[in-house]
Amino acid sequence: MIRTEDLSFSYRKGPEIFEAFSWQALKGESWAIIGPSGCGKTTLLYLIAGLMKPISGTVVIDGQVITRPRPKTGLILQDHGLLPWYTVEENALLGLRIRRMYGPDGRHAPEDTHLGEAEMKQVVESFMERFGIGHLKNKYPSQLSGGQRQRTAILRTLVMNPDLLLMDEPFSNLDVPTREDLEELVMDLQRELGMTLVVVTHNIEEAVFMGRRLMILKGHPNRSPECIENPLAFSRGNRVSTNYLNLCADIRSRLEKPS
Ligand code: ADP
Ligand code: MG
Repeated sequence: MIRTEDLSFSYRKGPEIFEAFSWQALKGESWAIIGPSGCGKTTLLYLIAGLMKPISGTVVIDGQVITRPRPKTGLILQDHGLLPWYTVEENALLGLRIRRMYGPDGRHAPEDTHLGEAEMKQVVESFMERFGIGHLKNKYPSQLSGGQRQRTAILRTLVMNPDLLLMDEPFSNLDVPTREDLEELVMDLQRELGMTLVVVTHNIEEAVFMGRRLMILKGHPNRSPECIENPLAFSRGNRVSTNYLNLCADIRSRLEKPS
């Protein structure tokens, strides 16, 4: 699904953040990328999203070299980016409406889907129910809690039916119970919809809950990353189990080890 091949990247005049960085994620996998602030997590996500270009090397998704954002990739950021003058429902419809304006051109919208207004509303409605925010559809973002806003933002991306979902620290501003609820909702949907998921976080517990596979980044330059399998992902009961806490401690010590 995603392959980075010999990826190198630096910002103008900055140090090299990625150097010959090769990694791959298979279709339907869920990856958590963990690392300290400033190590390059957001940069990697933007490279995968096609929002930034590598200096050398390539990002390949589904066999295609990425040179621009692709319509089947969904991206969710920390500051949800809802439009304040639109209601929850209008915000949720926004991406679909923009897509419809372009038509199924394969560049801005997938070639294989073209929904009419009534179908779009139906899709949005069913997702709003699923997300437990149906009753908020006529509210404006300023009338919502942080968790409800982030629910709306995730929903707005999922109604577009992405096959790849990229999330950049999506829950870091939320209180713990809200964050855990949303982690569970996303993981349920990831499996139901068969999406590939890449979530970036600096929260070790969140990484261990969401990532069946974990990528540990330590700082620049990042070369081939340390990746580990995580059989403990997704299990709600595991959050306080000894195995889970031991794995979190193991990752903490790996992060502290110099690369
Ligand atoms: P993370 O998401 O892991 O916190 P980033 O990918 O945002 O890290 O940043 C990686 C490094 O690149 C940091 O040292 C940061 O200061 C630098 N950086 C990020 N964005 C820019 C930019 N637009 N211009 C120059 N340097 C940047
Ligand atoms: Mg970041």
